[in-house]
Amino acid sequence: MDCIFCRIVAGEIPADIVYQDKELLAFRDINPQAPTHILIIPRKHIPSLNDTTGSHRALMGSIVLLARNLAKKEGISERGYRLSISTGPEGGQLVPHIHFHLIGGRKLSDQLG
Ligand code: 5GP
Ligand code: ZN
Repeated sequence: MDCIFCRIVAGEIPADIVYQDKELLAFRDINPQAPTHILIIPRKHIPSLNDTTGSHRALMGSIVLLARNLAKKEGISERGYRLSISTGPEGGQLVPHIHFHLIGGRKLSDQLG
């Protein structure tokens, strides 16, 4: 298994896990870009957003709602935050296991990229 996030799911690499259930895992980014920087991933290996289909509709919805809940738990709901999915080379995706970045706790750049 050479996917680093699959190895985190398997417990082979330690991570600061903030939430887990049978489908999802959320853990703090090792190189945080803001006071809150959490990665939310499906346990199942899906390489990128390009590899999702209608069969992932509920899973994708669960991730977005989890992000909402974690933002609240982190105390950043009202101040605001960003949820983003880097996809492919020009999107800056470095880890080929789909992940949602939940970033907040400081004023973020007005520019998206
Ligand atoms: P990408 O650039 O693919 O959208 O984001 C990958 C993210 O994963 C980066 O923000 C990077 O810091 C984070 N990351 C890479 N390897 C690890 C790791 O082993 N543990 C954790 N917690 N985060 C990682
Ligand atoms: Zn994986």
